[in-house]
Amino acid sequence: MQTSAELTTLFRDRGLRVTPQRQAIFRLLHGNDRHPTVDALHEAARVEMPTISLKTVYQTVHDLEALGQVSLLDLGTGSVRVDPNVESDHHHVVCSSCGLVHDVDLSEVPKLAPRYRKDFQPDAVDVIFRGVCNDCAAGA
Ligand SMILES: [Zn+2]
Ligand SMILES: [Zn+2]
Repeated sequence: MQTSAELTTLFRDRGLRVTPQRQAIFRLLHGNDRHPTVDALHEAARVEMPTISLKTVYQTVHDLEALGQVSLLDLGTGSVRVDPNVESDHHHVVCSSCGLVHDVDLSEVPKLAPRYRKDFQPDAVDVIFRGVCNDCAAGA
C-alpha cells in the first residue's frame, strides 16, 4: 500500500473524496501488518478522530480495495481482515483462539496436481496455517 501522501494524490486523481478522516485511515493502514478488522480500524481511528463513523471506515477500505491498495481477506476469523501488504505474495498463519494473523512467505507454494488442472486453471494460491499463537497456547 502506498503512503498517505501518495494515496491522497491517487484518490484525488480518481475523483474520490479525501478528508482528514480518510487520511487518518491511510496512516493507520500504511505498514500495518496486524491485518485489522474494520471494527478495529474504526476503534483506532476514533482515538484521533472521535467523530469518525464506521461507514466512513468501510467506504474508505472499499475504495482502497478497488484501487488495489489493500486486500480484504476472509480468513475464517469471523470478520473481514484488511491487509495493506499487496506488494508481496504471501500467505498467513491464523490463531483460531484470538484471531491473530501473521504474514508468512513460503519458499515453495503448493501446486495443483495435474489431474485437477485438466478442468481448472488456477491463477492464485492462498495457504492458511491454522493453530494457536504462543500467547493462547500459554493460556494468556
Ligand atoms: Zn492467539
Ligand atoms: Zn497478509
